[in-house]
Amino acid sequence: MLARKNILKIKPYIPGKPIEEVKRQLGLKKVIKLASNENALRPSGAVIRAARRAVLSANRYPDGGCFYLKKELSKRFKVKPGRIIIGNGSDEIIILAVKAFLAKGEEVIIAKQTFLIYEIASQIGEAKIRYAPLKNYRYDIDAIIRLITDKTKMIFIANPDNPAGTYLGKREIERLVRSAPRDTILYFDEAYFEFAKNMKDFPDTMKYLGRKNVIVTRTFSKAYSLAGLRIGYGFSSENIIECLNRVREPFNVNSVAQEAAIAALCDKAYLDKTLKLVQNGKAYLYEKLGSLGIKYVPSATNFILIDVGMNSKTVFKRLLKRGIIVREMSPWKLKNFIRVTIGTVKENRVFIKALKEILQK
Ligand SMILES: *Cc1c(COP(=O)(O)O)cnc(C)c1O
Repeated sequence: MLARKNILKIKPYIPGKPIEEVKRQLGLKKVIKLASNENALRPSGAVIRAARRAVLSANRYPDGGCFYLKKELSKRFKVKPGRIIIGNGSDEIIILAVKAFLAKGEEVIIAKQTFLIYEIASQIGEAKIRYAPLKNYRYDIDAIIRLITDKTKMIFIANPDNPAGTYLGKREIERLVRSAPRDTILYFDEAYFEFAKNMKDFPDTMKYLGRKNVIVTRTFSKAYSLAGLRIGYGFSSENIIECLNRVREPFNVNSVAQEAAIAALCDKAYLDKTLKLVQNGKAYLYEKLGSLGIKYVPSATNFILIDVGMNSKTVFKRLLKRGIIVREMSPWKLKNFIRVTIGTVKENRVFIKALKEILQK
């Protein structure tokens, strides 16, 4: 084999199935996807117009520095443009951080069941991974703090977490920040920030940017409905951002995504509509699952982790046959669980009806 040994050890990431693939393979006309925590609504008119305008100049390379998007983010979050990085999805920023900071053999702390990209990126970098178990489907800050050694270079915190949907509060984050050594990078992945920011006790990690080696990343893929354009952003110190820029591909973010992201940030009505749709959809699903006696983990995000009480691969396949794509959680070793993204009112109804039929069989 020609590949590096550590590459051969990596389990390939299994994404949610694309709608077109399921239509093709199962000969279905109608397929709904509740598998990848995308926004159920298509982008707003303003975003589509901005993207159309941008594509007219697609013969030119994009602005590698993302000047206007950084300017907009800077204004909104009161952070200097020099402390902002834009990525090809926030996934890319995770990869950049590992590339720039985690040397072979250095230690990284990752929760046992969390977003899989932290593990994959760390394996590519040949870092030594220390796994912190979850406790009641939540990150366990004490378990994480116990794993800190003088070799700990980075700690990944998904807040809220995926696939559990739970979040850490102010005091837990404060405790972690205080316990982390000076030279450890705390990576706060806030991909679901917009859904969680008004939850009781949700921490403001931006306030740690000045004090510690902290990176905070967010994305346009979830609440802002731009998953297909691949764009996310991060905040840190100028020093850390400068290092991330050294390992970044010069034109990592395309021009259509940059323009669409600016328009999305400015469209408050659309964001409000999305948040309302998710809030109401979640309330509906909680109520239906509750009355069917199905257990679930209450979520601060736009998805729910559901305990179907039987092999989730079977449930996944039966839902798929009915044209509903969800995520089965065996790659996370949660064998009786599926993860379901909040859909439109109609999609949520179709899902509940199908799940009821499958589980009552
Ligand atoms: C979806 C998600 C991301 C990022 O997605 P991008 O599309 O790459 O921005 C990052 N972290 C978590 C926990 C996610 O669920």
